[in-house]
Amino acid sequence: MADLILRGGLVEAMDGAAPSERDLCLSGGVVVDAVPDGAEVLDVSGCLVTPGLINTHHHLYQTLTRGIAQDAPLFGWLQTLYPIWQRFTPDHVACATRLGLAELALSGCTTTSDHLYLFPNGVRLEDTIHAAAEVGLRFHPTRGAMSIGESDGGLPPDALVEDERAILDDCIRVIDAFHDPAPGSMCRVGVAPCSPFSVSTGLMRDAALLARDKGVRLHTHLAENDEDVAFSLERFGQRPGDYARDLGWTGEDVWHAHCVKLDDAETRLFAATGTGVAHCPCSNGRLGSGIAPVRAMVDAGVPVGLGVDGSASNDRASLVEEARQALLMQRAVGGAEAFAHREAMALATTGGARVLGRDDVGTLAPGMRADVAVWDMAGLDAAGSWDAGALLLAGPRRVRDLLVEGRRVVEAGRVVTIDVPAEVARARRLVEALA
Ligand SMILES: [Zn+2]
Repeated sequence: MADLILRGGLVEAMDGAAPSERDLCLSGGVVVDAVPDGAEVLDVSGCLVTPGLINTHHHLYQTLTRGIAQDAPLFGWLQTLYPIWQRFTPDHVACATRLGLAELALSGCTTTSDHLYLFPNGVRLEDTIHAAAEVGLRFHPTRGAMSIGESDGGLPPDALVEDERAILDDCIRVIDAFHDPAPGSMCRVGVAPCSPFSVSTGLMRDAALLARDKGVRLHTHLAENDEDVAFSLERFGQRPGDYARDLGWTGEDVWHAHCVKLDDAETRLFAATGTGVAHCPCSNGRLGSGIAPVRAMVDAGVPVGLGVDGSASNDRASLVEEARQALLMQRAVGGAEAFAHREAMALATTGGARVLGRDDVGTLAPGMRADVAVWDMAGLDAAGSWDAGALLLAGPRRVRDLLVEGRRVVEAGRVVTIDVPAEVARARRLVEALA
């Protein structure tokens, strides 16, 4: 990547310093103090410059199933969608991934996790990995799985579950083939059985052993709503946090999605062990799951990041809107002073980086990767703003430019790495064939 200077913008580096109008210099894929004379200059006057936002929970394949089971809670919503997802092919997953990543990029996201937990009709994890390389976002795919079908008391149909030995073998295959632990890595693979209500206790335990043996992270859904907690109490005789702890699913290498129903003891457990949480306020609102106790989690020291969750339960994939929702929901239950604007920005940046185990993204300090979002504060969305730093309160909701590892993914409000209109047309054909 060539040297580049972003000039004229208000830089909110999320590194502890106050926002300031200054040059931001990029070289070799990282933020640097200065670059030699003659470097390319990108005029960002009138813009807010922030670290790229970080998404810690998603199911990109669901981008092709938005607006379905519109009024159902979690379990009923899943049971409506499983038979549709069962017909997905590698083409559906690849197209959904490209579209979902383009949508995320426009919302300021430069690093995203994904949780793919069903593999019908020859679908493989690399269908998402190759798509992410095309779009150009930093990617943390997780190899999900379901192994307990309806006939064994689980939620998914039997046709969507896999043999547990085959699941573990495929986890090893994709880690060996695609996981890159190096600084600046564009792809880090995780191990992610779908949820305690769709895999066995044995698989949860074995997945934790495998992930630690391989030095990769662990991810699943936990304590999402009251039904989920009731299932845990009835089936395992334990609350979700205790179940997780007993199976090796706590620690700094673990993050759980949702955790809406964590109680005080579970929050202390997560804080003491460094176990992370992917907070998904839009999905939690859409499915009526509740409002996660994020204020208490952050105060206790739990690592918390944001997740847009799958596009079937959001039904959008906008990181900047997710951060706004996190802010609003915590204030709705705790009052206007319950959660500061900067804290919500921290969830979307430094919090997400910690949850994903990254020390090279999340701020714009020198030495960090050149993952940058540029927000035009001069347009309609932010017109009249008295504080250009108050991104989440006003607008805009889309970036003007987005750089990942110093490479342009969005320019002048358009994704430049893939042909988005062609991909939208492809999505329409794929959905029509399913309907
Ligand atoms: Zn999810």
